[in-house]
Parts: sequence; structure tokens; C-alpha cells
Amino acid sequence: MATDPVCGMECDEKKADSAEYKGKKYYFCSASCKWAFESNPKQFAE
Ligand SMILES: [Zn+2]
Repeated sequence: MATDPVCGMECDEKKADSAEYKGKKYYFCSASCKWAFESNPKQFAE
């Protein structure tokens, strides 16, 4: 399981929306969390 960096929910890598930032992959529970991440990745990426 991966953790959604935006809301902290666990999500299934096989089904979740994903995005790559600085070579690392992030997974999201929903399109809106992905959108939030992509509009401000610095805030959520560690
Ligand atoms: Zn989420």
C-alpha cells in the first residue's frame, strides 16, 4: 500500500492515480488529491 501524500489515506498502487515528482512516484486516492499535489508538489513531497 502507498500513502497519499495529500490526505494521508492509504491507496492501492494498482488502482490509484499516480504522479512522478523529482524521480519519485506518488499515489493518490482521488483525482482531486492528485490535482492538489500537482498544483503544489513542494508542499506535499518529502
Ligand atoms: Zn487523498
